[in-house]
Amino acid sequence: MRKHIVAGNWKMNTTVPEGVALAKAVVEASKNLPEGVELVVAPPFTHLVPVAQALEGSKVQLSAQNCADKESGAYTGEVAADMLVSAGCGLTILGHSERRQYYGETDEKLVEKVRLALGAGLKVILCVGENLDQREAGQHFDVVKSQIENVLFNFTAEDMKNIIVAYEPVWAIGTGKTATAEQAEEIHACIRKVLAGKFGAQVADDTSILYGGSCKPSNAKELFAQSDIDGGLIGGAALKADSFIQIAQSF
Ligand code: PEP
Repeated sequence: MRKHIVAGNWKMNTTVPEGVALAKAVVEASKNLPEGVELVVAPPFTHLVPVAQALEGSKVQLSAQNCADKESGAYTGEVAADMLVSAGCGLTILGHSERRQYYGETDEKLVEKVRLALGAGLKVILCVGENLDQREAGQHFDVVKSQIENVLFNFTAEDMKNIIVAYEPVWAIGTGKTATAEQAEEIHACIRKVLAGKFGAQVADDTSILYGGSCKPSNAKELFAQSDIDGGLIGGAALKADSFIQIAQSF
């Protein structure tokens, strides 16, 4: 059975002490969570070690927001997958639209990143999603399908046990504009169908597919009620423990 997961992407927000305080507040609030919901926080690289310490003894998991497409060596400013493991991460987000848009992250690069992350023992939250022009041109299904094919079709059914997909329509990220539950569900169902075509129905059924894009306490319930939406990747609303936990309580 696939898992219900709510993951908080802190992006480039909070200082180290603020991040540690937020992590502690999330741990405290997570004590009131329904069984079967997994919580993940993804702070900036600088915060990983102290946040890992703050999460110790709790069920809240630690994720990075990115990792390098190289194993090690002369790549100034990059952070390798096994460094993330040694800092306490169990997961990393990859292919977030902000990385695709501002840092030239391509599907080809993502294949390498996913390979290295899985090889280091990390789970991967792979983000896919169309931008506004693509949505308005009616290309959203094709865009998402090709992102899934270009990246995940290079992996095996066994690898898929450690891959979570996040559908994040770019036009909904940080804009306050959420995809309707129907718009999100039809893409999630399409992603699951594409995965089933390549890896079989069981793998598709077991893969958690999260929705991201202005998800907040007021809309999480309706989104999470959809049969193919298994949780959320949360940006802005993850910066306050209360709203993050309220979202997690929406199952
Ligand atoms: C995100 O960036 O992953 C995200 C979903 O952001 P927000 O919730 O702020 O739209």
